[in-house]
Amino acid sequence: MQAVTIVPGEAGSHRLDDVPPPVPGRGELLVKTLAIGICGTDRELIDARYGEAPRGERRLVLGHESLGRVVAAPPQSGFSAGDLVAGIVRHPDPLPCANCAAGEWDMCANGRYTERGIKGLNGFCSEFFASEKEFLVKVDPALGLAGVLLEPASVLAKAWEHIEHIGRRARWQPRRVLVTGAGPVGLLAALMGVQRGLEVHVQDHNKDGPKPRLVRELHAAYHLESTEGEFDVVIECTGAPAVIERVLGSGNPNRVVCLTGLSPGASARALDVAVLNHGMVLKNQVVFGSVNANRRHYEAAAAALARAERNWLSALLTRKVSLDEWQTAYEKFPGDVKTVLLFPE
Ligand code: BGC
Repeated sequence: MQAVTIVPGEAGSHRLDDVPPPVPGRGELLVKTLAIGICGTDRELIDARYGEAPRGERRLVLGHESLGRVVAAPPQSGFSAGDLVAGIVRHPDPLPCANCAAGEWDMCANGRYTERGIKGLNGFCSEFFASEKEFLVKVDPALGLAGVLLEPASVLAKAWEHIEHIGRRARWQPRRVLVTGAGPVGLLAALMGVQRGLEVHVQDHNKDGPKPRLVRELHAAYHLESTEGEFDVVIECTGAPAVIERVLGSGNPNRVVCLTGLSPGASARALDVAVLNHGMVLKNQVVFGSVNANRRHYEAAAAALARAERNWLSALLTRKVSLDEWQTAYEKFPGDVKTVLLFPE
C-alpha cells in the first residue's frame, strides 16, 4: 500500500513509498485512511529537525492528524465497521511513569513515550492503519472532512484545561484573551475562547487572505500589530521568539500565559530575566508550556468541534491535495490555513 515516509535525520528524504499493509494484532482495529492533516511538525520532520523510526526500521511513516473509517473491529470493541475515527498520537512509555500509568501520557515524565508519525511509531499517512481501541476516538460523521481537525483541536483542549486549572488557584474570572498566531492552532484556540464566552483578540501578520476573515467570523478581534492590553489569558501559538518576548514582557496581575508553539532553532534575543522576574512575581503571573493531549482532551475537542459552526470549520481546510500530488501538501502557500492530504476512498 502507499504511504508517505521519511528517513528520520535525513533532510528531504520524504517519498511516496510502497509499504506492507498493516496486519491488525489481537484486539486491534483496521482503519482505512480518508485524510491526513499536515502541520509544521511534518515539515520539521522532513527537515530532519527531529523524528525517530520504529525500532529496527530505517523509515518512518508520517502523519499524526488523521481521519479514517473503520474497516474491521473486534467484537465488543465499542467500534463497528463504518465508524469515522481519529488516531491518538501519543502512546505511554512501556514502563509507565506515574502520569502514563494514569492515562495522562501527554504529561509523560520520563520522555520514553512514543508518538505516531513522530517518535518511534509509524504514523497514519498510509492507505490503511491498525490501532488498539484505546488509541482511537470516534468522530461525529456530521463533521465530515473537518473531523481531521480533531487532533490539533485536542492540543488546544488540553491547553485550555490547564489554563483553567491554573486559574482556579484564586478567584478566576477571566474576561479577555489574546491569541498570537492565526494558523490552525491559533484559530482553534480562539474558537474555544469564544465558546467560553470570553472576549478574544487574535494577533497575526497576515493582512489579507482567509485568516482575518476567519477570526472576524468568530466575532473575535483581529490585530496586525502587537496589542498591549489587559489580557487575563494569552495563548501563544507562533513560537516566534520576538512575539514570545513581547508577550512575556507585560500583562495583567494573575495572568496565565500558555506557550504552544515551538521556536525554530536558536534565537539571538536577549530577554531581561530580571524584568521578567519582577513582573511575574509581583503580579502572580504564570507562564507554562503545553504539548500533546490525552483521551480526555480528544473528547473535549470533539465536543468543541461539534458546537462550532460547520462552515467555519470547513473553511479552515484551505487546501485539499490528492495523493497523486502528495508532495505539494508539504509545501506552504500564501493563504494556507490547514492543508489536508486526501486518500482515495
Ligand atoms: C502534535 C502533538 C505532538 C507534538 C510533539 C504536535 O504537532 O500535534 O501531538 O505531541 O507535535 O511531537
